[in-house]
Amino acid sequence: MSVERTRPPHGGHGEHGITVLLKSMRDAVAKEGSAQDRLDHLTRVIAIHVVADVCSIYLRRPDNDLELYSTEGLNPAAVHKTRLKWGEGLVGLVAARHSPLVTSQAPKHPAFAYRPETGEDPLHSFLGVPLIRSGKTLGVLVVQNKARREYTHGEIEAVQAVATLLAEISASGELLSQEETEAVGAMLHGPEKVKGFGIVSGIALGRAVFLQPPTPKHKVFAAAPAAEAARLEDGLSELRRVVDEMLASNASLGGVSREVLETYRLFAYDRGWKDRLRAAVFSGLTAESAVEQVKAENRARLSQSRDPYLRERLHDLDDLSNRLLRLLAGEKNGGKRILHEETILFARTMGPAELLECDRNRLKGLVLGEVSATSHVAIVARALKIPMVTGAPEAMERTEEGDQAVIDGDAGEIHIRPAPETLESFRTKQSRYQERQAIYASEKNLPSTTRDGVDITILMNAGLALDLPYLEETGAAGVGLFRTELQFLIGTQLPSVATQEALYREALDLAKGKPVVFRTADIGGDKTADYMDHGDEVNPAMGWRGARMAMDRPGMIRPQLRALLSAAAERDLCVMFPFVTVPAEVDEIRELLDREIDRARRRDKQLPNNIRVGAMIETPSSAWRADLIAEKVDFLSVGGNDLAQFYFAADRDSERVQRRYDPMNPGFLSFLRATVERVSKTGKPMSYCGEQTTDAVTAAALIGVGVRQFSVPAAFVGPFRRLVRSLDAGKAAEWFKAHESAPIVSLRSAFTEFLNENGAVLE
Ligand code: PEP
Ligand code: MG
Repeated sequence: MSVERTRPPHGGHGEHGITVLLKSMRDAVAKEGSAQDRLDHLTRVIAIHVVADVCSIYLRRPDNDLELYSTEGLNPAAVHKTRLKWGEGLVGLVAARHSPLVTSQAPKHPAFAYRPETGEDPLHSFLGVPLIRSGKTLGVLVVQNKARREYTHGEIEAVQAVATLLAEISASGELLSQEETEAVGAMLHGPEKVKGFGIVSGIALGRAVFLQPPTPKHKVFAAAPAAEAARLEDGLSELRRVVDEMLASNASLGGVSREVLETYRLFAYDRGWKDRLRAAVFSGLTAESAVEQVKAENRARLSQSRDPYLRERLHDLDDLSNRLLRLLAGEKNGGKRILHEETILFARTMGPAELLECDRNRLKGLVLGEVSATSHVAIVARALKIPMVTGAPEAMERTEEGDQAVIDGDAGEIHIRPAPETLESFRTKQSRYQERQAIYASEKNLPSTTRDGVDITILMNAGLALDLPYLEETGAAGVGLFRTELQFLIGTQLPSVATQEALYREALDLAKGKPVVFRTADIGGDKTADYMDHGDEVNPAMGWRGARMAMDRPGMIRPQLRALLSAAAERDLCVMFPFVTVPAEVDEIRELLDREIDRARRRDKQLPNNIRVGAMIETPSSAWRADLIAEKVDFLSVGGNDLAQFYFAADRDSERVQRRYDPMNPGFLSFLRATVERVSKTGKPMSYCGEQTTDAVTAAALIGVGVRQFSVPAAFVGPFRRLVRSLDAGKAAEWFKAHESAPIVSLRSAFTEFLNENGAVLE
């Protein structure tokens, strides 16, 4: 081909252009001839319409290689010869990342892989889009131009629309031969182990179910648009009925969870969505293809958005589209996933509402693609004790619906189609885990006193009403840290005073008289609410957060204090302020509390019987002045997660630096001991609520340096009690005095040896 294509025919890539292209694609698919002829014809049609010098289709082989199946513009001899490994070259990268790649300098891209047989040397501009169906990449559609040029947003959208259809076409058997269709769909079938990150601990066994399941195969083009439009209308009405029913059956869900569901419902009724679906049907697509098409358009549009709220909503739209597809295929259960007796649910993304909607008796484990440990779905999964692994996108690629799967939330591993021996060893591990849980439950009323008679108070961390039943189950003495910000983070807007009050009241009711320490919202740092403008901070962990935000924005904390005072009327209220840095800040925040108390009095509101105020020690500056802070409050709590991050100057969210600094460092432990001693002179209690206590050796060390009150995640209350009861606190303290000046990085191995020699139970 000698002419460089630079100008689109048919006046551009607007709606008209896409409609013309879809019609030409339909003709190409309907053509007589071999599968290869039809594919080549299709490639040609696409090349002309998107004004590309080259258009190629690579399809995935059962061995995961990407093979050039058809090309317009590259050397035809390369067809069925050129192959790229998964992740190799730009094409392999598009497949592995499941996302489009655009560059105007392809040969300079670090992933560029030169294939002399294709003759592609002078092609500078590259746009590759994955052919994704039911979450799996089936191949890659590539358009290339000789000239260095930026593809416009409209062009990228058009190519994505084509890729969506191509994926459907290749899966529907309308294009390739039966064997080829099967080869493309075939996945590896041996046992596989995929490594990710454990987010919720525990072991789960079950069958793989995809939250976004393979949507049933369907035709892409339709001959009678009016009939398709009627099917679409029926599908939409059914979808709305199902969503309404879901809301009604979750009527008991309060607060934030309810808001999430309401937003979801608004989307189901969205007029714009319906109009776009109808337009796609009238361009000649089946109702199903129209849904896929509009879904891909939304993805392309919203994933580019700078507004995090809109990006989050993309997930709701995807979910609704998938439900609609299943309804169109005649599934009668309203698009709700039927779970196996024992299910491991796989999803690229998932919202808390969907998780709450699942049958909790059947859902055993979760494999999610794009979540962090502090994401809302992770928080809910932890509260529901559903083991979860994330950060392993290839797990989804290698799993088929119904495959046996095992996840290990501690090791962060996913075993797909495990060998019988692997399965057996996990069953044993799991039953040991369950036996241990039964032992902890049977010990829940035993005193948490060390062998030498030192009483240790074990409290529990919480953040949702869902956590509170664990107080009873674990025998924890109360909630030492209720992270109120979780309610702020899950919702789509600032929760109202009434919504906050309802949660606090529910928490106090469920605690049945045990104390609950409500920490005022520590928003900022890694905990950002989508609806709030945090500004651009280079170091958000050291930025505008916790007490700082409260002092600068009394408008946010005062409603929260009002809600707390009201929820605890005629009961005891414990309220704690996060991220206090210098003592004077306590005065400033307390004044806000006093103003709220005055306000309530003026309005003749019932107040709590007793109000206890606490502050968190989370920075070296506040630890150094902990005694002065203690004098201004009723209690303190060491937030060891933040304190260690600032002590070592090591980002708590960075795996890389976290590995370097062990809290068993003698310097850190002696710093804590000095802080404990400083505070004990004031007579005020101080607890430790950092997550380091989930490691038994560190927990024992903290007792050794004098901490007597702990607040730990619910799952660790049982093991912690066992540890306490097996420990000699006096001996541990002596051991520390003797070792805290040791010039070594970590006391871990020496102290573990000491603990083992002294019969401590480390689980
Ligand atoms: C801490 O910093 O240790 C703490 C308990 O607070 P958070 O983890 O919520 O920052
Ligand atoms: Mg903290």
